[in-house]
Amino acid sequence: MAWINGQKVKLCKYCSEPGHTQFQCPKRKLETQKKQIKKPITRKHQKTSGKRNDERRKIINLLDKEFSRYWRMTQIESHGCCRCFICNKLLSYEDACIGHYKSRRYISTRFNPFNANVICYKCNEINSKQPEILKTYRKNIIDRYGVLALEEIENSINDKISTEELKNILSHYRQLNKQFKK
Ligand SMILES: [Zn+2]
Ligand SMILES: [Zn+2]
Repeated sequence: MAWINGQKVKLCKYCSEPGHTQFQCPKRKLETQKKQIKKPITRKHQKTSGKRNDERRKIINLLDKEFSRYWRMTQIESHGCCRCFICNKLLSYEDACIGHYKSRRYISTRFNPFNANVICYKCNEINSKQPEILKTYRKNIIDRYGVLALEEIENSINDKISTEELKNILSHYRQLNKQFKK
């Protein structure tokens, strides 16, 4: 917790910035892409907001776009192209999309950068139908982010995430995307 402009704001337990939890922290993912997570992470249940469904849907759609842009651009920035997280194929920005290990219908993990990775359209299409693809996806999460990241995803699929929190994550990604030219 911190006070910003007279308001109490939750800070990310990983990078200490406002606007997202450690489960959505882009910085944390970038760093754990290099090394495995060593400490177990505690989770908090979040409050639901049942109303304003249209607004919520709209925020989720906008967030899908910003999230996808950020992670595809970040990979291009670091080594010139994207790589499919599942089959390892090199991809252009346009040929890459975001594919979820746990289905995107679970909103609490839809924007968890460990659960939502840059993949190719081919892997995305067969993802849900072929257990082999899902098995590889699972293995790659363990190999690249550590088994705790996988457990964290699996344990948090049914957590509630409020529209307010989604809004915060959206503005966080909008802020991050400002570094990339349109
Ligand atoms: Zn953070
Ligand atoms: Zn692929």
